Amino acid sequence: MTKLVLMSRDYDMSHLMPSILRAAPELDVVMHGTPAAADAQIAVCWNPPAGALAALSRLRLVHSIAAGVDNILADPTLPSVPVCRVVDPRHASGMSEFVTWGVLHYHRHFDRVLANQREQRWLRYEQRDPSQCAVGIMGLGEIGSRVALDLHRLGFAVRGWARNARDLPGVQTFAGAQSLNAFLDATDILVCLLPLTAETRGLLNAQTFARLRPGSKLIHVGRGEHLVPGDLSAALATGQLGGAIVDVFPTEPLPADHPLWRAPNLVVTPHMASVASSETIGTQIAHNARRLARGEPLLNLVDIARGY
Ligand code: NDP
Repeated sequence: MTKLVLMSRDYDMSHLMPSILRAAPELDVVMHGTPAAADAQIAVCWNPPAGALAALSRLRLVHSIAAGVDNILADPTLPSVPVCRVVDPRHASGMSEFVTWGVLHYHRHFDRVLANQREQRWLRYEQRDPSQCAVGIMGLGEIGSRVALDLHRLGFAVRGWARNARDLPGVQTFAGAQSLNAFLDATDILVCLLPLTAETRGLLNAQTFARLRPGSKLIHVGRGEHLVPGDLSAALATGQLGGAIVDVFPTEPLPADHPLWRAPNLVVTPHMASVASSETIGTQIAHNARRLARGEPLLNLVDIARGY
């Protein structure tokens, strides 16, 4: 019987046990930290404790419960076994809902109206056509491309940036580091949907913000370590950034005394932009467990050298 261990240093994964067992009753599912976990062949992870995967002598597959795998690849002792992630169209549509809310929040001036309400100020703002608002999406993968196409359908002028050239109908695309500045220069609302890799860590910094049009907005739904928090606070204070919605932070939950809680024009959300359902996670893990047992190619395999 294939044994699967649920493993996280900071997240209770026990709620996933029923959905995995419903999809694959033939699996033996155990929790990390129990003696029975030592000979597990599959590890299902979110933020695995450093070194814990290397301690599994029979390990054959590491499976993320999320789209991002940075928290798994960060472990220098990660054994050389395949790493898979969750790819779910409803994950992408959930993200599209969140980013569309953020774009409309700024495009329709809800940020200003909500601030005005606190001071009983009745002020109306010009309603601009969405085609006059350039939304720039960093990362055009499974999730970013869905967000880009949905915003294009709403009439926004959508630009997208990825490592390789992409062809998305109605979306102006830019490829590679050499085109980053051209991508940023005409962007009004910047959306980060990148994976966290050596190249993308710290990319949301003062230099990047300075390239945007003055008063631009940021919607950050990638990973906390993409962002240099001090540079964000400074850009908000000077008005170079007119507002930001940040969903992900290097330390989560964001500590109560962190200055970002009180930064001007910043909306903090608790890493809620989009979460794959337990049923989807369970089903995808079950499919890959069966493929592993039959020696078939795994689904949603991560390119470990590339980092995503
Ligand atoms: P994918 O792996 O499918 O896509 C990643 C995209 O980023 C690709 O278009 C890729 O380019 C691009 N990219 C990677 N590195 C670079 C680089 N150095 N320069 C430019 N572009 C780059 O990922 P997903 O769409 O599934 O997910 C994206 C990220 O969204 C996750 O890694 C995670 O960080 C975040 N996320 C956040 C959630 C939340 O609730 N806040 C929920 C889910 C995901 P190319 O196409 O050329 O390979």
